[in-house]
Amino acid sequence: MEDMFGSDDSRTRYPTTLEPEPAQQDDGAVRKPVAPQPQPQIEPQAFGGPLILTVADVDQLIRRLGADGRTVIGPKVDGPVIGYQPIGGAADLPSGWGDEQGPGHYRLRRRDDDALFGYALAPTSWKRYVFPARSELFRARREDGALAITTIPPARPRYAFIGMRACEIAALDVQRRVFMRPEAPDPTYAANTQDMFVVAVSCGSPAATCFCVSAGTGPEASGGYDIRLTEVNSTPNSPDHYFVANAGTQAGADVLAQLACKPASDSETGAATQIVQAAATAIGQGVKLDDVHELLARNRENPRWDDVAARCLSCGNCTMSCPTCFCSDVVDENPIGDDGVVRARVWASCFGVSYSQMHGGNARTSTSSRYRQWLTHKMSTWVDQFDVSGCVGCGRCITTCPVGIDIRTELEAIRATDTATKYPESVRPQTDEGLAT
Ligand code: SF4
Ligand code: SF4
Repeated sequence: MEDMFGSDDSRTRYPTTLEPEPAQQDDGAVRKPVAPQPQPQIEPQAFGGPLILTVADVDQLIRRLGADGRTVIGPKVDGPVIGYQPIGGAADLPSGWGDEQGPGHYRLRRRDDDALFGYALAPTSWKRYVFPARSELFRARREDGALAITTIPPARPRYAFIGMRACEIAALDVQRRVFMRPEAPDPTYAANTQDMFVVAVSCGSPAATCFCVSAGTGPEASGGYDIRLTEVNSTPNSPDHYFVANAGTQAGADVLAQLACKPASDSETGAATQIVQAAATAIGQGVKLDDVHELLARNRENPRWDDVAARCLSCGNCTMSCPTCFCSDVVDENPIGDDGVVRARVWASCFGVSYSQMHGGNARTSTSSRYRQWLTHKMSTWVDQFDVSGCVGCGRCITTCPVGIDIRTELEAIRATDTATKYPESVRPQTDEGLAT
């Protein structure tokens, strides 16, 4: 379909800040994607040595955080998936459940043990708590011939998040850079994160979709948590079922002190280390990401964008499930039975046609231009904007894509057909800006 500029793809005429920019900085140095790192990195034993928690201690931990007035959110079997839901104790955790994930595929699987955190990731992320899918901005009502506006200050929940994976903590850091810029901090994000308490759990059962090792974000959190747990679960119902706990903040150390746990022995911390190492080995360095900033910047004309567009449904699932996607729209609602209106912020997706509608036309009328925009922003121009990659390697976009499009496969296909190496300079596709390099 042609747009008003006479082309299916107007990005070369209508550049936005989200389109690829030259891969070189002013000083000529090539920029590399920056792995998201929760700051600051926590020194081992900064808040005391590791402790041992039993399942009963984990239950007490959850109850104490709730008794402290926190809204405790953790993994819970929720219909056919594990979701992040309000929990009241360890009995709510998905004991004995794991997950099987692949391109366009998710199944709960019974484990042969009673691990509480024996799954990889929930297919939906914690994003919906810190950046809700819908948040009301104000209400307006006509009163006595005038318009009365009622502003709605963001609620200030005191969240305790139980079971955050390392990549998910990294995603929080990525979104913090977006929402908490000093010149324009987002009040909703600030209210939802200002007093949160994070209990990280190292990943011991990664999915086939995980690539946190390549992204430099996991499988063990190096910072950004109040308490980090590593679950050791040798055999079904084994007395060896315990958690090695490290405090990452004084608040975390204070909560652990209330549980009166015993110090971890060298063999117990060694077992925890082995679990993390085994997870890292299982995930592997499967995706080459160190050159992806430049690779995508120079492949705006790669034929692979049309290939993936032939499969992509433009449904936006990948953006909704991605823990770092942050786009939103503002809508006015007129609830039935209410004579006023509500203005709300709602999640938006760059795969929607109306997303790129602006005065004078639509900048991205084709699926290929929208997929290219999403992937190029995520892995390349995000670095230019926020000094960090927009991808933490969680794999959710792979699992939740209804047609099984795999971001790793697409990157490799683009590398294999790199327009900078495939075509000699004299025959490279032309753009309005000159040669596509
Ligand atoms: S792009 Fe995909 S793998 Fe990367 S953070 Fe988003 S959902 Fe996870
Ligand atoms: S890549 Fe998959 S999840 Fe994303 S918009 Fe296309 S079909 Fe939907």
